Amino acid sequence: MEMNIKQVIPPTPGRGIVIAGPCSAETEGQVMQCAKDLAKLNQVDLFRSGIWKPRTRPGSFEGVGTEGLSWLKRVKEETGLKTTTEVAKASHVYDCLKAGIDVLWIGARTTVNPFSVQEVADALNGADVPVLIKNPINPDLGLWIGAVERIYKAGITRIGLIHRGFSYHGETIYRNVPRWQMAIDMKRRFPDLQMVVDNSHICGNRHMLAEVAQEALNLKYDGLMTEVHPRPDEAWSDASQQITPQVFGELLQNLRLRKPTVDEMEMEPLTELRRQIDEIDSDLIGMIGRRMKLSDQIGEFKAERNIAVLQENRWEAILQEASRAGKAHGLSEAFMERYLRAIHQESIDHQDAIVNKVR
Ligand code: PEP
Ligand code: MN
Repeated sequence: MEMNIKQVIPPTPGRGIVIAGPCSAETEGQVMQCAKDLAKLNQVDLFRSGIWKPRTRPGSFEGVGTEGLSWLKRVKEETGLKTTTEVAKASHVYDCLKAGIDVLWIGARTTVNPFSVQEVADALNGADVPVLIKNPINPDLGLWIGAVERIYKAGITRIGLIHRGFSYHGETIYRNVPRWQMAIDMKRRFPDLQMVVDNSHICGNRHMLAEVAQEALNLKYDGLMTEVHPRPDEAWSDASQQITPQVFGELLQNLRLRKPTVDEMEMEPLTELRRQIDEIDSDLIGMIGRRMKLSDQIGEFKAERNIAVLQENRWEAILQEASRAGKAHGLSEAFMERYLRAIHQESIDHQDAIVNKVR
């Protein structure tokens, strides 16, 4: 689709786009305090705050609703900061347009659903407001692309992307795994769209925020969106990943907006491949960990019934199946055997430890 996209936020020379604010607007006081402290940093382009909060399960704080829009209005009047909030339904769009919210964003749980994206797009038709689109929560580039196309077709030309990571079933150090390659592919497909990293939802914690933000800037992202709260520990949503305006100021100060050198550009394909390998290695380790947890359960079962840990038939069957599957992926029989022996040994060690404990 031929597109004529314009910038959501003209970047200030020398620094990337900075979007910050609390996960949720909780009270007028909390919003105003956060905005005033952020304004003092003199580096924030856009004040974010969730008004309607999509929560996985009912019963948790679901946002203050329309009332919060007047707080964002006050933020703009008293601090000069432009504002942005999440819209998921037509009524959200109408309310935001009426309240003069400067930028709207579509959340990860909305991008997954073409019905919802279309509803938002229809409500936007004829409006002149920039829209940021978060990646869908599941790693499906088609849904992200589709959302951009639907919003563009509604006549919106100032569109940007927010990379907030993807859900992952298994153990990982992230709340949502970044899968940098997917975001890079998206940017390659839409080179004119500005893309910021939402390091807060990728990390789910405070200690990795700076590292993830810097990684994004190294990959030439246009900026970041970070959750900032005056009293993070008391936040009504996403407490564990929010930081104070002061800590956020320090984070910004340490970030390096990188202009890659010619040498680095030449190395880029290699860096890219290494990043993918690191991601796969991290997935593999997580999966082996999960496999050992299952071994532990088997160990307990065997211990209760006094069954021997080593079951030759089962081992033979695993070896044969893996050798066949390995071949299909171009892996040699010798490697598959070495790999499986190592896994099997670790598994036996785990089970032995359990059986010996129970005895
Ligand atoms: C948020 O930004 O607070 C939010 C709900 O994000 P996401 O849609 O990425 O989960
Ligand atoms: Mn949040």
